[in-house]
Amino acid sequence: MHPGDANYKHPDRPQEKITGRASGNNRIKQKSTTNSQFPSSSKANYLLPFDILGGRSHSEWYFYSMIILDGRVASKAIKEKLSNDVKVLVSKGERPPHLAAILVGKDPASEFYVSSKVKSCEETGFKSTLVKYEDVSEDDLIEKIVELNKDETVDGILVQLPLPRHISSKNIISAIDPEKDVDGFHPVNAGNLMLGNESYLPATPYGIMLLLEHYKLDIKGKHAVVIGRSNIVGRPISILLSNNTHPGNATVTLTHSQTADLGKICADADIIVAAIGKPGFVKAHMVKDGAIVIDVGINRVDDDSPKGYKITGDVDYENVAPKTSYITPVPGGVGLMTIAALLKNTLKSRLLRI
Ligand code: NDP
Repeated sequence: MHPGDANYKHPDRPQEKITGRASGNNRIKQKSTTNSQFPSSSKANYLLPFDILGGRSHSEWYFYSMIILDGRVASKAIKEKLSNDVKVLVSKGERPPHLAAILVGKDPASEFYVSSKVKSCEETGFKSTLVKYEDVSEDDLIEKIVELNKDETVDGILVQLPLPRHISSKNIISAIDPEKDVDGFHPVNAGNLMLGNESYLPATPYGIMLLLEHYKLDIKGKHAVVIGRSNIVGRPISILLSNNTHPGNATVTLTHSQTADLGKICADADIIVAAIGKPGFVKAHMVKDGAIVIDVGINRVDDDSPKGYKITGDVDYENVAPKTSYITPVPGGVGLMTIAALLKNTLKSRLLRI
């Protein structure tokens, strides 16, 4: 029986009853329900396209209950715990964790990301230092990093990427002390991640794992398809998803721009992680019914709003979401988890330094 059939009951998932009729604009409304099995998730108050229901206007359906993996909720819970940990630390006479962030240039997106990180530090009781350069040479930037490496009061150093063309990101990342590399990009941390050794996990993949953990999603034995093989997202998340951990133990296919039959590979996936940098790239036909979809993309798309743009992910959310069992929104998904993971790494560094 197909999930679109009346009276369909998914074998292992809680059921959500959807009632309604096709209205003039060929849509029916999903009735929201509560489900105590999942922690404070955002239940989708979603409009299901008529064609997904096979074009029929039955008055009652059972369907996949799409649950939003809400980065706001999960990151808030993590930050509350971090804030308490910092209070305990300070009550013992220790200094709070200290993150030093370096921003080069005037890219509005980078400025926004760095200021969000600094704001999150303030909210959780961390100390932060923002080092801003309008322009800087590679040598001077390395000199600054060496200074921060030596500074006993600094626990974490992050350099906001991308850097201007005249500066090599590789050289800059390599200059950071691996023990303060809370973004987890240094070759030593990348190597330890690969070997399954203790390391600072790169913030975005770590944030995704924390999100899966928060929603208690068991991905053991599932087929995960990662789209994108960058060193900061695609490749490390493919390793973490396949690790013998919980969450983990997925069977992972890592894809990229040269992958043949990407649509077919994705359509077989139980979990899709999209980290491409192309708005709306993952379309509904690439997604299996009931799949988990993690959208890492952050893309600025021009629109008619007063700002002149909106932020969208790599997934065609409107059409993909109704097919999924769980999906991350953009904004409000992985981006917030990235910051929470960064703070967790910084606290870890602080505790290792005591
Ligand atoms: P990169 O540009 O470094 O990597 C993009 C990857 O996508 C590459 O591996 C590329 O393949 C692949 N790709 C490009 N086109 C296709 C295609 N047509 N089919 C299949 N694969 C394709 O990007 P990042 O990994 O740095 O970032 C990806 C997205 O995630 C961006 O939108 C970025 O803004 C966002 N991001 C979000 C973060 C967050 O906190 N939420 C943090 C970091 C990034 P190939 O290697 O062959 O070129």
